[in-house]
Amino acid sequence: MNGALESTVPSSATSPTLIPVAVSYGDGIGPEIMKAVITILDKAGAKLDYQQVDVGEVVYKQGHTSGITPESWDTLRSAKVFLKAPITTPQGGGYKSLNVTIRKTLGLYANVRPCIAYSPFVKTQHPNMDIVVIRENEEDLYAGIEHRQTDEVYQCLKLITRPGCERICRYAFEYARANGRKKITCMTKDNIMKLTDGLFHKVFDEIGAEYPEIQREHRIIDIGMAQVACRPEDFDVIVTPNLYGDILSDVAAEVAGSVGMAPSSNIGDHCAMFEAIHGSAPDIAGLNQANPSGLLLAAVMMLVHLGQHDVASRIHNAWLRTIEEGVHTRDIFQEGMSKSLVGTQEFALAVCERLDLTPVQFSSIAYSPSTPLPQLRQQKKGTPERKELVGIDMFIQWNGPISELADRLKAAETKDLHLQMITNRGVKVWPEGLPETFLTDHWRCRFISSPQVEIPKDQLAELLVNILEKDLDFIKSETLCLFDGQPGFSLGQGQ
Ligand code: NAD
Repeated sequence: MNGALESTVPSSATSPTLIPVAVSYGDGIGPEIMKAVITILDKAGAKLDYQQVDVGEVVYKQGHTSGITPESWDTLRSAKVFLKAPITTPQGGGYKSLNVTIRKTLGLYANVRPCIAYSPFVKTQHPNMDIVVIRENEEDLYAGIEHRQTDEVYQCLKLITRPGCERICRYAFEYARANGRKKITCMTKDNIMKLTDGLFHKVFDEIGAEYPEIQREHRIIDIGMAQVACRPEDFDVIVTPNLYGDILSDVAAEVAGSVGMAPSSNIGDHCAMFEAIHGSAPDIAGLNQANPSGLLLAAVMMLVHLGQHDVASRIHNAWLRTIEEGVHTRDIFQEGMSKSLVGTQEFALAVCERLDLTPVQFSSIAYSPSTPLPQLRQQKKGTPERKELVGIDMFIQWNGPISELADRLKAAETKDLHLQMITNRGVKVWPEGLPETFLTDHWRCRFISSPQVEIPKDQLAELLVNILEKDLDFIKSETLCLFDGQPGFSLGQGQ
């Protein structure tokens, strides 16, 4: 096993002068692990000019609901590279996740998470595991667009875009090519979400066709994730939408040995952020027990990104040597294998003491400027498809019998917009529903032209006025369109 963390983006600098890096110490275990990491970076001779930014709990409590101040944005944007310790997102409404905000605001669309086993020194059932999870970082349910629609029903919008899928799939293939990886597995749930996850899968196949040397496959996320947990050696690179990637990478990191060991990079066209994948671990905060390895390996990825290959190799090799000599923090300590149980800062000193050594059991690492790098390419914008409005889904809050709802809706029809079906939580309940189906107060009522031909837009307004006149509690609507003749909407379940 080589274990090199591989290149994530083209180098932005090779000069020996100090490179500005925004740094935040975060919350919980954040300050302890960042202190440990900076001790090692300094001792190893990293040419970095740390520019501290305050983000996280303190800033939330000052009244900044996004967890970051306007001045910190200026620092992040000018430094372009951010080494970030984990932060705590306060519970409860009103606070937005800082991590999601930073990733999306700075356009950090690719989240790269190598999950590597360090057996036998770190206990794992899967000694040959060496997976890279590439998670889409900006879209999906993380759009954070949520609404309460009725007494009983809440909604979160899942947004998947073609440019978003193209960027992340292209990145995954470029990453595999640059790092000599042989296979990419795409994981989605497109057997259920045929339009959103279906698009991700389709774009993966389209882009993958341009990389014939890289084997590609698709697995449904549920069985795919189970297989990662049981047979991780079957996988190489995995590309997947945001939420699945979030869960899958934690599973993969834990299966590899410890969530405390896995680093991640968040890569965009203009900026990059490096962090551990774990959170602020409030249960062990202040106890000098946390493993700083995830953040340290993230810092190694950052050094490679900045072109400081020698320092990156030095630190990585010293870290491997420390691990194989059995100097372990509590989370990875095993009786019989580990030689000494150390705290966070003592672990950092142990790595510093080994900066001139290379590993004996693991292969040593040699990052170099000649390592090929993933090429970030702008996708060309496709030609817009012919869009024809053929109907509308009207969402209504209603507590009475279905037959009465249907009668009122039929009385609201326009010349071309006829009531086709009513669903409740996606299942068709009119016409011909079953009495066993559980019903809530949230109804999707589909009005469509039959046959499906383009209808004038003013009929939408007319339908809405009619619905309101029938004293129905209108919540929202979604238009139904054909794109180059293909429906841009799914059927009702049971339709
Ligand atoms: P967590 O990752 O903080 O902790 C999960 C478990 O793993 C805990 O038992 C913890 O002690 C252990 N653990 C985590 N990192 C460790 C390390 N370096 N060494 C040893 N053990 C470690 O997850 P959580 O408890 O669900 O979340 C705590 C907080 O962190 C929440 O507020 C959450 O929102 C936040 N969070 C932040 C980030 C981030 O800033 N990138 C990521 C995830 C969660």
